[in-house]
Amino acid sequence: MECPNGCKVPMQEKKVEKIFHRNNKPIVIGDLNIYQCMECGHESIPVSSAKTVEGILKGNMKPSGQFNAELYEASAGKI
Ligand SMILES: [Zn+2]
Repeated sequence: MECPNGCKVPMQEKKVEKIFHRNNKPIVIGDLNIYQCMECGHESIPVSSAKTVEGILKGNMKPSGQFNAELYEASAGKI
């Protein structure tokens, strides 16, 4: 797959964790295949992954566990 920004390097397949929102609640989808451009960082979700996300957001899959994480707001304060 080629980067839509016209970069010369081919995009690489990666597995990532991403946060989505369903009914105003955050959910985490792990092991999700995406393509990322190593040059500009552009991410592209292939159709198969988009369908998986859509199905999960519709409630077509049971969760395999709980994900708890600390939340940091980048705008909350100085480091
Ligand atoms: Zn690129």
